[in-house]
Amino acid sequence: MIRPPATLGMLGGGQLGRFFVSAAHEMGYHVWVLDPDPHSPAGRIADRHLVAFYDDFAALDEFAAGCAAVTTEFENVPAGTLDYLAKFLPVHPSANAVAVCQNRIAEKTFLADNGIPHGPFAAIRDEDDLRRADAALFPAVLKVARFGYDGKGQARVADRDEALHAFRHFNGEACVLEKMLHLDCELSVVLARDEAGVVRAFPTAENRHRHGILDVTIAPARVAPALAARAREVAERIAERLDYVGTLGVEFFVCEGELFVNEMAPRPHNSAHHTVDACLTSQYEQQVRALTGLPLGEPQAHSAAAMVNLLGELWYEGAHADTPQREPDWSLLHAVPGLRLHLYAKHHARPGRKMGHFTVIGANTAEVVEAALQARAAIGITDGEH
Ligand code: ADP
Ligand code: MG
Repeated sequence: MIRPPATLGMLGGGQLGRFFVSAAHEMGYHVWVLDPDPHSPAGRIADRHLVAFYDDFAALDEFAAGCAAVTTEFENVPAGTLDYLAKFLPVHPSANAVAVCQNRIAEKTFLADNGIPHGPFAAIRDEDDLRRADAALFPAVLKVARFGYDGKGQARVADRDEALHAFRHFNGEACVLEKMLHLDCELSVVLARDEAGVVRAFPTAENRHRHGILDVTIAPARVAPALAARAREVAERIAERLDYVGTLGVEFFVCEGELFVNEMAPRPHNSAHHTVDACLTSQYEQQVRALTGLPLGEPQAHSAAAMVNLLGELWYEGAHADTPQREPDWSLLHAVPGLRLHLYAKHHARPGRKMGHFTVIGANTAEVVEAALQARAAIGITDGEH
């Protein structure tokens, strides 16, 4: 067991890392963050920020020498970096688990090999793969296998010709071609698993996306309890098969009442931000506990919650980057009972960039959803259907 005031290492300096730093500090640990961005949200509150690339081995040596264990908030950390660090100190999740989650071909293959429900897909490594792909996959979504996020590196394609065009546009990078599913809704399960294999899952959440980016999370999900329970079982099975240690996010599609795994995130997940405000233990505290060998906390929700993401366009008067920039009027949000605002202190607001979020908590789901959507409109987020 790694006890405070030991120093924990965090690869990645985004908002997920920032919440980890806060949770670790609350529990008496120090945190070093490694991230190439000198203004990273986690780096600026860490005990030390190593401004370095993930493959800077001199920096990794220093990081390993200064930390007692290492985790990540960023799935695109090269697996080689995790393998290298693991020679010197505990690294959770493992390079292998991260490698599966960071490549859509490896991820889908893992799901197929383990009999875990997922949508129809084909691995596309060259144009011939596309020419051979089953016609029943169209209309489809072509997604680059690596480095896509928030709907980036994805193209909706009606037929094979459009898919070929999109594949060339992605410079022939390896992709997956997924059948476009008609979604009843989207769910996620975030869980923590420790080295002994104990799993604690948060209640299943419901996610609404806008332009491919998570917009609103509602927890607990407004679905039949049996479906929510089944999603938890599937997520737990994935964690076991990956021999996962840490906090894991699993995204699901619900299609004609059936569950399909969309993707996994080997880190805390945007759809469990609300656990900070609505659960007995947050997903970030669980990440600290799993990493240090402390017993996992109780994941139950003490409140219903609705979380709304605040994207960079909100910082522009006309909601796009060529209009004047200004700070939104947060007093509109602070006036709402049960609302908690979290800003990530990002250096620059870019449209589509996650700059902060708020969570409304309360006794019942319908009320928190209503209050959150009203607050969302009051601050000036007007599009999207809920
Ligand atoms: P990201 O890494 O950007 O989160 P996802 O694969 O989760 O990528 O896609 C983002 C969103 O796009 C999903 O949450 C869903 O709303 C939509 N989407 C992605 N793939 C499909 C699909 N095969 N059918 C229908 N909608 C999809
Ligand atoms: Mg996703």
